[in-house]
Amino acid sequence: GKGKWTEFDQRDLLLTYNALKVLEARYLLKDPDTLRYVETPQMLFRRVARFLARGERKDVEEKFYELMSSLKFVPNTPALMNADTRLGILSACFVIPVRDSMVTPQGDGIFDSLRAMAVIHQQGGGTGFDFSELRPKGDVVASTAGVASGPVSFMRIFDVSTDVVKQGGKRRGANMGILHVWHPDVEDFIRAKTGELKDAQLQNFNISVAVYDEFMRKVDSGEPFPLVNPRKTRIKDWDYYVVRARNYMWEEWVQEEILRELEEREAVPLDESRIVTVDEALAIAETEGAVTGYVNARELMTKIVKSAWDSGDPGLIFVDEVNRRHPVWYLGKIQATNPCAEEPLLPWESCNLGSINLEKFVVDGKIDWDGIAEAVKYAVRFLDNVVDANRYPLKQIEEATKRTRKVGLGVMGLARALVRLGVQYDSIDGLYISYQLAKFIYYNAMLASIELAKEKGSFPAYDPTLYKDVWENARDFQEILKVAGLGGQPSEQVRKMAAKAESLDFSVLKELRLKYGLRNATVVSVAPTGTISIIAGTSSAIEPLFALAFVRNVAVGKFIEIDPLFLEYLKKYEMDDPEVIKKIAESGTVSDQPFVPKTIRRLFRTAHEVDPIYHLLHQACWQQWNDSGVSKTINLRSDEPEDVVWNVYVTAWRLGIKGITVYRDRSKSKQVIYFGIKE
Ligand code: UDP
Repeated sequence: GKGKWTEFDQRDLLLTYNALKVLEARYLLKDPDTLRYVETPQMLFRRVARFLARGERKDVEEKFYELMSSLKFVPNTPALMNADTRLGILSACFVIPVRDSMVTPQGDGIFDSLRAMAVIHQQGGGTGFDFSELRPKGDVVASTAGVASGPVSFMRIFDVSTDVVKQGGKRRGANMGILHVWHPDVEDFIRAKTGELKDAQLQNFNISVAVYDEFMRKVDSGEPFPLVNPRKTRIKDWDYYVVRARNYMWEEWVQEEILRELEEREAVPLDESRIVTVDEALAIAETEGAVTGYVNARELMTKIVKSAWDSGDPGLIFVDEVNRRHPVWYLGKIQATNPCAEEPLLPWESCNLGSINLEKFVVDGKIDWDGIAEAVKYAVRFLDNVVDANRYPLKQIEEATKRTRKVGLGVMGLARALVRLGVQYDSIDGLYISYQLAKFIYYNAMLASIELAKEKGSFPAYDPTLYKDVWENARDFQEILKVAGLGGQPSEQVRKMAAKAESLDFSVLKELRLKYGLRNATVVSVAPTGTISIIAGTSSAIEPLFALAFVRNVAVGKFIEIDPLFLEYLKKYEMDDPEVIKKIAESGTVSDQPFVPKTIRRLFRTAHEVDPIYHLLHQACWQQWNDSGVSKTINLRSDEPEDVVWNVYVTAWRLGIKGITVYRDRSKSKQVIYFGIKE
């Protein structure tokens, strides 16, 4: 009918040229024999909506379709690609354990993990690994009387395998490789992607050093930190009532909490001697002969920073913060994250993501809070349905994922939303909007998950008393500014704009949770939205605008982009003259163009003009109201000195950020996005 055609017609017009190109290259289904397209973008959204609304009322499917086709909410790539197809993975994030053995009966030896990785990559998922359990280079291999080659050499196998699978896969497989800072091979690891190796080795890996509060304190004091051979210590195998982990690295608060819990439950005989402080554990490791040496924490950090300045790797994962704010901490200790670090996960867990397009919720220069609340509600329902609709590649993954039903609702288009609100990204007002948006979305996502629990039941591992409400220790906005040495108050105008979020009462949330339960162990997570933000035609995640004009290199080709929103503003000021645009496009920014009006220069600040501290503070704001993590790249200008990286890394820890990555412009020969169209 005519009505239907009109709807389709209009919805397709929302897609930008780049969105269409990406959809065409990768997402729209083709007939495998003729390679002809068998669907249009609207048919894709319909396919996904229908598949994820199976067993639901008809209006739920309409809601899902409506949200996606209006580009207000887009799920992660695997869901778009694989829904209702023969491939069944709908999630982007996986964490796979790697034990110190070639293969194991449990299926978590090195080559078991490699297999799991290949299957996940084939279908477009990303994988994270903690390689710290592997014995260090030069250690003995009893079965062959040989010498171990160490974690980095095994990582190279994972890397090559990723390369090979890529050829036939749906998209480039991405990996996170983590090594805990106490591992004897940590210096090899830090150097694994630097200097001559930076464009050669581990190209399919982001790497991060997992560090502890104790280590960060010793960075300050310049004290020694022990290196421990994981093969030689039995501490890692100590089995607690609910926690199985390397307990000498647990912070004391966790140990106390476990003790209290054991006492309360009287479930197992309490053996206090098995719970030790960091110092005691170290003494034990010493008697076991597991401590192979000491490093000066400050010197090690200097090496990490040097390497990151040089090539962007390694990043840091703050393990204690990750575990302190893990709502289901009682299930075990988190040792790793997915590739872009927005999802700290337990071994074998997976998580599916989706993001709200904030730009769509700025109406007449105001935030449409009710619209966001409604979108969040259905988005969480959508993501929760993904947990059941997923076809899991391995039994372990299915079990671990269904036990916690973690989902990650994030955002995209923050920078463009701020432009439309007339708020500068790198300002107290900009941060304040981030803080309140994060809070509002988290609140509503929790509410949605509680409502789902009421309707469909809680996640199986839900324990109402043990579950930790991470909002209870969210830092206050002023506190965050103070850590960064900034002062100042948000303007009256912006406070009025955010009043709806300011007034939220989280204690109500707790009452409801205790009454009805909770459907998902985690509900939010800020993903990079690398491709889905192109599909939605907006800025990625919480990043500032990258450039007003640039060349984007993606696997399917080169795109020249001039920001359409920027063009809109130029038109408003009658500056959309081809000569002017060309001039701006050559540098990618307007800060050095005195002829451009101040308002435009203030609103269109690009990633490299934004001071690193503001990058960091936006990340901190989104991390406060968040039960998972935040993916953010602290983009630095190529001329920034190493000190800046040091500051970013140390301040990130002080701000309670869970993971941190920097990227200095032009520090690698290949990068995804380049400035200016001169390239
Ligand atoms: N990811 C991946 N390969 C890629 C890009 C992403 O495996 O080339 C995974 C990875 O786990 C990452 C997650 O997908 O953390 C989300 O990335 P992003 O938001 O950029 O994905 P999108 O849904 O936009 O494609």
